[in-house]
Amino acid sequence: MQQNLDYSKLKKQIKNWAIKLGFQQAGISDINLSEAGQHLNDWLKKQYHGDMSYMARHGEKRYRPEALVPDTLSIISVRLDYMPAGLKPYEKLTEQHNKAAISRYALGRDYHKVIRNKLKKLAQKITAEIGEFGHRVFTDSAPVMEKAIAEKAGLGWIGKHSNLLNSKTGSYFFLGEIYTDLPLEPDSKQSFHCGSCTQCIQDCPTDAIVAPFQVDAKRCISYLTIENKGPIPLEFRAAMGNRIYGCDDCQVVCPWNKFTHNTKEQDFQPRHQLDDIELLELFNWSETEFLSKTEGSPIRRIGYEAWQRNLAVGLGNAEATDEIIQALEDKLDSASDLVKEHIEWALDRLVD
Ligand code: SF4
Repeated sequence: MQQNLDYSKLKKQIKNWAIKLGFQQAGISDINLSEAGQHLNDWLKKQYHGDMSYMARHGEKRYRPEALVPDTLSIISVRLDYMPAGLKPYEKLTEQHNKAAISRYALGRDYHKVIRNKLKKLAQKITAEIGEFGHRVFTDSAPVMEKAIAEKAGLGWIGKHSNLLNSKTGSYFFLGEIYTDLPLEPDSKQSFHCGSCTQCIQDCPTDAIVAPFQVDAKRCISYLTIENKGPIPLEFRAAMGNRIYGCDDCQVVCPWNKFTHNTKEQDFQPRHQLDDIELLELFNWSETEFLSKTEGSPIRRIGYEAWQRNLAVGLGNAEATDEIIQALEDKLDSASDLVKEHIEWALDRLVD
């Protein structure tokens, strides 16, 4: 700690630099995350994390930032809007059963890289001003409770769907953090504004929000299509509809998202018409095409097999056409056992 540094001035500078780097907001959190840690442990005890063993793996490092990064005294939390302008409304897309509904955050470049680059630049600005300081940057990183940190930093409140909400812009934004050894004064927590609303709980296609602030990941389409490596349980396949990568339903129905601000980041613009594309076109991508078209995209992380698995379910929920049935039959021989079983399920639904 530098004794004669004006930390209050530095905090204002950090917030201004964050905005200049393209973030919409920055705030400061202290490192007491014990309440969030309690909530996490209750959630883990109920086995709501499914196969996401990494959620349990980091133990108390998740809610004791100083155990994860020694000497941490405060956390800079930032948010970055990701919703591109001019998209067909998601709710219209989910009604067009032969089109693919892909979660809005995943249409463009991988946000991890975009946010990490900006956070590194923010840390460089601080270094240029005060000299070397202890820090580490994170975005969407398993050991970091980023929603709880952002809430403490005044960036919004955790809604009943367990996403962060901001009264000026809703919930379509990413979060990032810098753990620092700077004794910055924490911001105040924003108040809770869900009120008596339960829209996200009622409209979840698979009833994954089992109680306010309690999402059973094993029922959540985001988990089932992205994190889950095995088969999609039969009970959720019809409800998945055409949602083949993630699910935005709980955000789409949230009244606060009428205030959504579109992103200014060119990197988040949709690639390869992923915002409005036929399921069949995606299903016909070869593995080589999948790898090349998803280069630099978060979608690539699920791999070709899970991609085909999800698309087979989407096609099983589509309106039957000769082309769809033919494409499914054509893939049967070359598909892995996992994908084959999903194709057979789809064909059972489509062929009389
Ligand atoms: S839909 Fe309603 S309950 Fe759910 S997060 Fe939005 S305001 Fe809160």
